[in-house]
Amino acid sequence: MPELPEVETVINGLKPVMLNKKIARIEATRKNLRYDFPENLDAISKNSKIIDMQRLSKYIVIRLDTGYSLISHLGMSGKYTIFSYARNEKIEQVKHDHIIFHMDNGDTIIYNDPRRFGFLISCKTTEEKNEKHLSKLGIDPTDDKLTDKYIYDKFQKCKSNLKTALMNQSIISGLGNIYVCEAMYRAKLNPNTVASTIPHKTIKILTKHIKEIITEAIKAGGSTLKDYKNAEGAMGYFQHNFDVYGRNGENCNKCKSEIDKIIQGGRSTFYCPKCQENK
Ligand SMILES: [Zn+2]
Repeated sequence: MPELPEVETVINGLKPVMLNKKIARIEATRKNLRYDFPENLDAISKNSKIIDMQRLSKYIVIRLDTGYSLISHLGMSGKYTIFSYARNEKIEQVKHDHIIFHMDNGDTIIYNDPRRFGFLISCKTTEEKNEKHLSKLGIDPTDDKLTDKYIYDKFQKCKSNLKTALMNQSIISGLGNIYVCEAMYRAKLNPNTVASTIPHKTIKILTKHIKEIITEAIKAGGSTLKDYKNAEGAMGYFQHNFDVYGRNGENCNKCKSEIDKIIQGGRSTFYCPKCQENK
């Protein structure tokens, strides 16, 4: 599943071919993905200019000069592939190509999504803040507004464990399971700790690690962009080296203890019981 750094990488890859460019039309090869495509898709996007593109949490927001915004989510398996007209790239349509952006300069951008959990919806740009996916978002890890004080204050009202509090998208938006696990490991914090009991000075360390880990991952993703057509022919998915995520049963890189896996809020948490033994 694409996490925040992948979505950031995708949007950075799309910007050169989409931002300030005109869409001739958007072709949908079916009527829906997770949700129906907008009924007015043609009306709001035909011959429109993309005036702004922004990542909000894990959503790609494409703002058009028609006063509408397209909101794209990659779901579990969504990916965009660019076919450059200037570079004479031959358009190859494959199975599960669901949305095709025909740009007026001849470039083609194709959204492919085998599992179809992704979506493309729209709203008036002025109504973005009320849109149900965007309205309840907390602060992005890359935003300077995400401070240790903000997290500490929010956690004071959290009766849940640290893992669940960090996954709460209305506090920090876009921080998924992988980076929550990795940040707790780096901060040496036990995932079962009650969020409200963590002292401010510890939250300060945790905040630093959250920001560092996301910055590192975005950087790693950026370095994959120069050859955005990777083995799968699409951009945005890249290899990470994780300390704990997905490593249950393997040895901790620091203390050599066995990484453990527990279930919290229906999701797997990976952690080192020794390095993260504060309770
Ligand atoms: Zn360890």
